[in-house]
Amino acid sequence: MQPTLAADRLEERLAGIVPEIEIAATAELAREVLALKEERQALILGHNYMEAALFNTVPDITGDSLELCRKAAETDFPVILFCGVRFMAETAKILNPTRTVLLPAEKAGCSLAESITAEDVRQLRRDYPGVPIVAYVNTYADVKAEVDICCTSGNAVRVVESLPGDTVIFLPDEYLARNVARETGRHVILPQKGVLPGSGDTELQKVMIGWGGRCEVHEQFTTDDIASVRRQHPETIILAHPECSPEVCEAVDFSGSTSEMIRFVRETEAPSFLLLTECSMGDNIAAANRDKTMLGLCSVRCPHMNEIRLVDVRNSLRDMRQEITVPEDIRLRALKSVERMLEL
Ligand code: SF4
Repeated sequence: MQPTLAADRLEERLAGIVPEIEIAATAELAREVLALKEERQALILGHNYMEAALFNTVPDITGDSLELCRKAAETDFPVILFCGVRFMAETAKILNPTRTVLLPAEKAGCSLAESITAEDVRQLRRDYPGVPIVAYVNTYADVKAEVDICCTSGNAVRVVESLPGDTVIFLPDEYLARNVARETGRHVILPQKGVLPGSGDTELQKVMIGWGGRCEVHEQFTTDDIASVRRQHPETIILAHPECSPEVCEAVDFSGSTSEMIRFVRETEAPSFLLLTECSMGDNIAAANRDKTMLGLCSVRCPHMNEIRLVDVRNSLRDMRQEITVPEDIRLRALKSVERMLEL
């Protein structure tokens, strides 16, 4: 077991993150969570998209979904409280089934995870027999159970390149598929949307069969946003998540997963940065890099991530509620897809 997080200096950590008038109450709530954490012997995991007051106070470990799931797989704490959305907590349960996994929200869904069902995947298998299927981790356990391998935005290119043959099915994010297809020299087919071979995409021989899912946050960024920032702040380095459209990803200075963006900002000297991703992520990077200037132009908050606040974490730990369960037959099949990815 790892040592518990210290409850001191919370006010200091919250300075500049929450309004001054709320600091004392927020710190008090965070102390309550930390005391419950001790009592329950819980490991608290905090996704990069959590609100700043939560992200900067109670998690033992912060990171992207892959990093957090790796930690969840290794822990010997009896309780894992996952501050993220449902598919992430499910992945923790898939990897470490003997732990009690709590999600501090009733639903905390995801537009990508909800865009595809296990039956959709089975139909694709019938339509394209023998073609390997990759699922982005932003899918529910029953979908992971139907595919050959999972991927994250950080390792999607490597996963696709590890597969045999010239054709691969990549689900469910259309934009991530298009971005990965560009990097791996593939022509995209979207049967669900009627974009089929011969419809003029490219002449590339290798094929990526995609799906029409979109992240409701990242699909909102446009090349007009980028052009406007470039006009007003020409010195600013602009970063985008690969769930943004290919046009946006091509127009920015750097495109990468949440962890890659964090590393890029930490290691790059520039007058200012703008992140085209979920708002809280920008706030959390700004809090971790107080010597750097982040343009605060973001207005796109993920409604699902936003369901989890400090008070929900307190309530979930106090009442041990919203436990995540995954039927064992689904878990075992989903585990194979996740483990294949982790082996890479
Ligand atoms: S930011 Fe997008 S991909 Fe992430 S949980 Fe929200 S809707 Fe899903």
